[in-house]
Amino acid sequence: YLLILLFITRLVSITRKSKPWITLLRNEFLIKYIDISNRLHVDADSIKLASSDYGNIVHQTPAAVLRPSSVQDITNLVKFAYSSTVPVTIAARGHSHSIRGQAMARDGVVVDMMALRENVNESGVFVSGSVDSGFYADVGGEQLWVDVLHQTLKHGLAPVSWTDYLYLTVGGTLSNAGISGQTFRFGPQISNVNMMDVITGKGELVTCSGDASPELFYGVLGGLGQLGIITRARIALEPAPKRVKWVRMLYSDFTAFTKDQESLISINGRYQENALHYLEGSLLLHNQSHSNNWRSSFFPPSDTPKITSLMKEHCIIYCLELAKYYDDDATQHTVDQELQLLLDGLCFNPGFMFKRDVSYVDFLERVRSGELKLQSQGLWDVPHPWLNLFLPKSRISDFDSGVFKDIVMTRNITVGPILIYPMNRNKWDDRMSAAIPDEDVFYTVGFLHSSGIDSWEEFDEQNKEILKFCDNAGIDVKQYLPYYTTKEDWINHFGPKWATFQDRKAKFDPKMLLSPGQRIFN
Ligand code: FAD
Repeated sequence: YLLILLFITRLVSITRKSKPWITLLRNEFLIKYIDISNRLHVDADSIKLASSDYGNIVHQTPAAVLRPSSVQDITNLVKFAYSSTVPVTIAARGHSHSIRGQAMARDGVVVDMMALRENVNESGVFVSGSVDSGFYADVGGEQLWVDVLHQTLKHGLAPVSWTDYLYLTVGGTLSNAGISGQTFRFGPQISNVNMMDVITGKGELVTCSGDASPELFYGVLGGLGQLGIITRARIALEPAPKRVKWVRMLYSDFTAFTKDQESLISINGRYQENALHYLEGSLLLHNQSHSNNWRSSFFPPSDTPKITSLMKEHCIIYCLELAKYYDDDATQHTVDQELQLLLDGLCFNPGFMFKRDVSYVDFLERVRSGELKLQSQGLWDVPHPWLNLFLPKSRISDFDSGVFKDIVMTRNITVGPILIYPMNRNKWDDRMSAAIPDEDVFYTVGFLHSSGIDSWEEFDEQNKEILKFCDNAGIDVKQYLPYYTTKEDWINHFGPKWATFQDRKAKFDPKMLLSPGQRIFN
């Protein structure tokens, strides 16, 4: 016993000089009492990796990192933590593309979910089902969506709801919502899950669905990792299209832009069987070069001068982006006709419509090339003081004048994409934990800033000013990928769902061990 303690104390003091005694004790407990000692890592590299995320703003040091070789390893860890008298918090870490330390566990244990990928003999994505009962994929919570795409395509199938960027884990996006341009029609990713395996905060592995343990099932979807660790999700699949007609149109008038967006997603309007499969929108700002934006490798270089001059003339240009899937040459003509019907009567600036025809995979992987370019320039691992919001449709025009045309233009610091697109509330199940505005149609607005290592606070100030503006103007705004600093803010965020969320936490994670980095209960 003494030898083990001395060994660990020495090891940790070598790697991490100022570790408090409590951490040493916890390490000792972990290594002594559970049979996963060789998968618990306390070396400097492991600790450093688990102390950072895509946001590169928050850094929390865990006591250890678990690299599980099986789901059982994670269950053992949670069981141990639940029975321990010393509180040991646990954070599942997917691809760590959180912005504010949500997948970190200060002095606790970070579970490197991606390590499971090294140990699954097959791909970790199993396709099954039939035409009559529907197709689905059973997918490990640690799998990246890009791998889900490529594995399901082998069967001619694919999920219907995506994120813009596919290098995120299934468990990570299902803990938030998983949104993109398909959400208006197919709902977020959390609306396209039939069943899950979840390890609760008591260390119980539960298979849950809308019928079996529905409280856990709905609670985990959008539950910010608070109720359990997702180890498997059953994702609904549909026949995969082969090609995509992809269109962008530019607007100088915000009202025309949002009117067209809303009409295109409307259930009673153009949203019929021939509807679009994808709709998003973004801002082009006169002080930003659209060619160095990681999401805008769309426009032909020959059109750059005319787009730049439109941006100069109006300062802010709104870009409506849509897509319609089709299969092959045989359906090419029909899809062109259907698309034309949808585009007729839209009020974009004449001469500013741009079309592309790409493969389905290229469309879904559209932001990857931008990422690789920034990586090669060393600009991907910089701080990302992002702000993502959900806003009721009725206040979107106030947001345009108060935020885009005032705060953003006055501060003049915005770097990186600003997204804005609407979604239909009826595609979200109210039993899920995800918090959304209480209107039939609501918008998501994302300020996807990149900053210099020392300048993220400037963007943070802008984010705070935007939130203050919404507060003063009485706009019922919800943060997506939320980051709040007070309990009161969390209660406001969940609104009428707070009591249920709190009850579910008490039931499934009574010792409040899971995902402490969200800072809701810890
Ligand atoms: P992590 O950051 O590792 O974890 C996020 C949270 O989920 C943490 O609290 C963690 O503890 C918990 N968690 C992780 N795995 C599990 C699990 N298996 N079970 C339970 N809890 C778990 N979001 C969208 O909706 N649409 C987009 O288009 C989109 N694009 C993005 C593009 C980029 C470049 C980036 C950086 C983020 C984007 N996001 C988008 C946000 C992204 O969905 C979330 O940050 C998501 O949490 C990232 O997944 P991850 O695997 O990196 O999760």
